[in-house]
Amino acid sequence: MAIVSATEMVKKAFEGHYAIPAFNTNNLEWTQCILKAAQETQTPVLIQTSEGAAKYMGGYKMVVDMVNDLIDSMGITVPVALHLDHGTFEGAKKCIEVGYSSVMFDGSHYSIEENIEKSKEIIALAHSKGVSVECEVGGIGGTEDGVTSNGELADPAECKAVADLGVDFLAAGIGNIHGKYPENWAGLNFERLEEIKEAIGGKPMVLHGGSGIPFEQTSKAVSLGVSKININTELQLVFADATRKYFEAGKDLEGKGYDPRKVLKPGCEAIVAKAKELCEAFGAAGKA
Ligand SMILES: [Zn+2]
Repeated sequence: MAIVSATEMVKKAFEGHYAIPAFNTNNLEWTQCILKAAQETQTPVLIQTSEGAAKYMGGYKMVVDMVNDLIDSMGITVPVALHLDHGTFEGAKKCIEVGYSSVMFDGSHYSIEENIEKSKEIIALAHSKGVSVECEVGGIGGTEDGVTSNGELADPAECKAVADLGVDFLAAGIGNIHGKYPENWAGLNFERLEEIKEAIGGKPMVLHGGSGIPFEQTSKAVSLGVSKININTELQLVFADATRKYFEAGKDLEGKGYDPRKVLKPGCEAIVAKAKELCEAFGAAGKA
């Protein structure tokens, strides 16, 4: 089975009150680990790349071919969507053209008028090819923006304006942050989440910066209409931790411990274990 659009899996999650995990990939091994975790837990899954990660791996077309080839060679039977995370206008168009089955157009840094115009164009193009679309309203805070804040809060009326364009799922700031959460983080703003849910009535929402949000908060968000949760940092942290331990224990100096396949193994096992744990935690395991 080749990659599929994410529309149906996210809609089913919305109706069934669970969330589809959307894992960012960085290379061949990460992609294999995500697919393995999804297959073993029977979870419908999104594999996503940022534009930078796709460039790092050799380009969008390479990523499309890699994911499709792995689905085939690994005998993956669960639904898998390949999604562009935080796409620019040009990047989203390019991904639709080369075979991504889902794209995010992040126009949150434009004025709302320009965000609407550009979102409309991407939605029309994507839907003409059976590709699902995520758009964003209001920025999502994060340390990569140079400030660690309590996260931004999207305006419900603006969310409605973008949702009404026919977007398949909507990302909106509800106090969430990319990267590691600071000690003094105020938590998700459920009041705002409910206001947005009311405003966009019946559209699934996406929670960005899903790494490290306490479980009670993610499950409450899911009960209020969040149906896709993005995970990036959490897999990076477990990979780095397991890899550091390998070197600290001097394993690379034992026998052929320097073999890259041996070096990467503990990190990969950690990714699979964490991804499986999150598939279960979001209620998506067994839903394939
Ligand atoms: Zn994000």
